[in-house]
Amino acid sequence: MVHIERYQNKSVIDTFQTQDEIQFDPSSMGNGFVDRTESITDYDYFVYHTETEIENWSIQMSERYSDFVELKKYGKSIENRDLYALVIKEKSGRSDVPRVLIDCGVHAREWISHSTCQYFVGQLTNPDSPWSYLRNGIEWHVIPNVNPDGYAFSWTPTGRFWRKNRNPNNDAATKAAQKENGANNYGCGFSNGIGVDLNRNYDIMWSNTNMIGASQYCNQQSYRGAHAFSEPEAKFHADYMLGKRFRNFIRVHLTLPIRTNHIFGVS
Ligand SMILES: [Zn+2]
Repeated sequence: MVHIERYQNKSVIDTFQTQDEIQFDPSSMGNGFVDRTESITDYDYFVYHTETEIENWSIQMSERYSDFVELKKYGKSIENRDLYALVIKEKSGRSDVPRVLIDCGVHAREWISHSTCQYFVGQLTNPDSPWSYLRNGIEWHVIPNVNPDGYAFSWTPTGRFWRKNRNPNNDAATKAAQKENGANNYGCGFSNGIGVDLNRNYDIMWSNTNMIGASQYCNQQSYRGAHAFSEPEAKFHADYMLGKRFRNFIRVHLTLPIRTNHIFGVS
């Protein structure tokens, strides 16, 4: 219970201040990051970590805890970053256990989502945690960062509220799809016209007309893409899921009042 107590002692205000300090101090943005993954046993699960740090942490977890953590790369993002999952299960245990998939960060700006996946893995691997027994009897697949390009961009000075991936949306397929959908190309290819909402890009209820909760316009936050699975981050993710027969799937979208008077909806 040590960790739960620690969590309770960490006030919400502290968390926000930490975030503000990291997020809005120009000296700690862009190229100025200090990699805080040097000592994996001291990894701080109570601050937000950069895209690079999350990847380094994932690699180091799989190396340090190789008896029960495996890093599985399942594709590449638009900007050629690795897409990966951490598979957690006692290798000495039963092999025919149910699989559960948890993924985080499909929407880049929802930083607490990425933190949730990391914290969960941290608890599963910590021998002092009461949760570590969950390594037995279940094969956990945790994807800590579904949308690494968007997340990296959300750490840049102008990108904090970025939600989509980073597809430039200026290719012929996008333009043809815009025309077919009766949408103009306004904004495609620059500023908010970059990126696809990955959570609107799956082939479930994706249609050319009357799609509710998604947009056919590039410059909208919920732009669904040129066609279903136009985005590698969504397609590789779906392939990964379909290849494994998961018992359960949890997609973590968590939102917080990140700045005063600014509350994101859960979507
Ligand atoms: Zn979301």
